[in-house]
Amino acid sequence: MGVVFDRFAANKCCLCGSTEDLSGEHKIKASLIRSHSRTKELGFVNPTVPKPTIAQSAKSKAFHFKSKICKQCNSERTQKADRAFDAFHHEMLGKLQRREKLWLYEQQELVPAASPDEIDRFRYFAKLLVLFLADVQGPRPKSIAAFAIAANDQNPILLSVAEDELHKKLQEYDKELYNLSHGGLTLRFNRSLTRVLSMESSLSAGGLRYDFWINLKLIANLELQIFWRDFLEKAKTKI
Ligand SMILES: [Zn+2]
Repeated sequence: MGVVFDRFAANKCCLCGSTEDLSGEHKIKASLIRSHSRTKELGFVNPTVPKPTIAQSAKSKAFHFKSKICKQCNSERTQKADRAFDAFHHEMLGKLQRREKLWLYEQQELVPAASPDEIDRFRYFAKLLVLFLADVQGPRPKSIAAFAIAANDQNPILLSVAEDELHKKLQEYDKELYNLSHGGLTLRFNRSLTRVLSMESSLSAGGLRYDFWINLKLIANLELQIFWRDFLEKAKTKI
């Protein structure tokens, strides 16, 4: 289709396009759910559903993307990125406890100089963004999907880590309450709604909030306007 975006196909892996051994990926890693849920009950709150439900366990379907990835992308191709994220999360939790400065990464130009481990943690966020886009039948960002499975080193992800204010408030109210959530997908438009500036999401766990996003250049916007009009119109109605 385009240079930047492709179509998603429900029967294909969102990351590599394979049709074999497809399965659903966690929206919030099972290890995060397990390590940050101190009580037995996992209340599952969906803003589009009026009543909160209780998830049976970290394996609950409620925590999975509808869109699929193949076995290879779910294991060997993303394992390093998953581990790099776990290590990063651990490091950030330590900083939070020691009240140290967290993280703000807005300098894309610095990425080639970063260590392989530093790049890998961004691949984890790239995978989440691709899957969030697939879940709403949005466009498939080809280079970002390739970056997520380490097929290229062009990091497009911008990231900020801060203390999760909602979690803080919940804890002040009751120590048994904690916030584990994701931000789904948000498209940020310019003032006149003629251009998409960025595609964004977030992840909250353990008192930390990760905001991650990609900025869209002119060519990406042209493709969206030519091939993805309906998707853009739908996104505008949710502003
Ligand atoms: Zn795959």
